[in-house]
Amino acid sequence: MKKCLIIGSGIAGLTAASYLSSKKIQVTLLESSPKFGGRTFSFKDSESGEIIDNGQHILMGCYEDSLAFLKLIGAENNFVYQKKLVVNFLSNQKKLFAISALTFPYPFNLLFAVFNYKALDIVDRFRFIGLLIKLPFISLRSLENLTVSDWLIRENQTENIIKSFWEILCVGALNTNLQKASAKIFYKVLMQIFFRGNFASTIILPKYSLSESIIDPALSFIRKNGGKIIPSETVKEIIVNEGKVLQAISEKNIYKDFDFVISAIPFFSFQKIIPKELPVIDLNLEYSTILNIHLWLKEIPFKESFYGLINSPLHWIFNKGSHINIVVSDADEIAKKTNDEIVKMAVDELEKFTQIKKEYLTRSKIIREKRATFIPDNKILNKRPESKTNIKNFFLAGDWTDTDLPSTIESAAKSGRIAAELILSKIDDEQKKLS
Ligand SMILES: Cc1cc2nc3c(=O)[nH]c(=O)nc-3n(C[C@H](O)[C@H](O)[C@H](O)COP(=O)(O)OP(=O)(O)OC[C@H]3O[C@@H](n4cnc5c(N)ncnc54)[C@H](O)[C@@H]3O)c2cc1C
Repeated sequence: MKKCLIIGSGIAGLTAASYLSSKKIQVTLLESSPKFGGRTFSFKDSESGEIIDNGQHILMGCYEDSLAFLKLIGAENNFVYQKKLVVNFLSNQKKLFAISALTFPYPFNLLFAVFNYKALDIVDRFRFIGLLIKLPFISLRSLENLTVSDWLIRENQTENIIKSFWEILCVGALNTNLQKASAKIFYKVLMQIFFRGNFASTIILPKYSLSESIIDPALSFIRKNGGKIIPSETVKEIIVNEGKVLQAISEKNIYKDFDFVISAIPFFSFQKIIPKELPVIDLNLEYSTILNIHLWLKEIPFKESFYGLINSPLHWIFNKGSHINIVVSDADEIAKKTNDEIVKMAVDELEKFTQIKKEYLTRSKIIREKRATFIPDNKILNKRPESKTNIKNFFLAGDWTDTDLPSTIESAAKSGRIAAELILSKIDDEQKKLS
């Protein structure tokens, strides 16, 4: 039986471990933290006793690798799937504007959805649709070195279209502002969402906490298939000899009983243990904060499960039933404020955008995730390393590796699947040679 050591239990490591263990590879998964799941985890809020996520996560219909992973581990029913794209936006006049796909065949349903988006005047709606129709004909080369802001201005998108749609989508999807985000990366995201059929554009939300919805089912699946999962073990060094990893050394143990190793840790952790035998990875990743503001209220005046906010420092509100979870992306500056200042800002905004009043607030909890995602700017284009390395039994995974996607669950799941497939095809080749 072949054996694989996987370092890191985020979505990338769990995906790789799930695929490999389902194919009878014996997996050992090492995780530096006492908890599993990396940037997707849940914990018990001591005051309310509720299980809360480190941050609201959304998936989309175009997340093919994530959905395949959920299916593999039997967790696909832990999510709520939209039948068609519907996103409700709130304005500071307390007005509700919906982008809601109709029953026309794709892609006309999406174009009509945009046409009915009344946050824009009729001229802007035509401008907006004009750009959507043009998208498949835009060459990637023409976006080279442009930021999203440069590109939208070039495409005659007015300030209102940018504020009422593009900014909300770009900041939500890329966790950075339009002046930093690469137009090329944003364009690829748009093509995934809008030009791959109806389902691709729909929103998928976890039914339960992230741990219950994804992480626990993945851990059970790996264990059921004979995998070993070890918490609180930080890999400090990877020893390579004659083009092969021979040992992975943690502060507690030396691991050497394996045929393959996958590193599925973030780039900033990998930089501390890069084996000197690997070529230099010339990647200068910067990171950006996501802030989650949980507010418990006497009354929650929302019918829908989530809303986008037009032109507000708050980006999304998720209705969690017992409380609301406000998401602020690209939040490096806001995260520097004190908790009291953040709560005050949130409540002031809610008073402008919704029926919520200050007096409704009973308690709050703020979660700052400082290195939530890397910033997908033009500096990093063509620099992310692929999974295969020059060390023959060593593979890379993680949302930052070359998946052609921004820093998302989908990028992590894709990277894990790619690393697992490379190992399986290597084993296949070896077996063919022997027979
Ligand atoms: C608040 C927040 C909201 C987000 N919202 C969304 C969203 O809505 N949709 C979406 O698609 N994505 C979202 N993301 C991004 C998404 O969570 C990440 O892209 C994804 O989880 C990254 O997975 P990963 O496996 O690549 O890395 P990680 O999750 O970072 O996992 C790496 C693991 O490796 C471990 N590790 C590090 N060093 C070592 C070592 N030396 N030895 C052993 N273990 C080590 C770490 O402890 C960690 O558990 C969000 C992220 C955050 C933080």
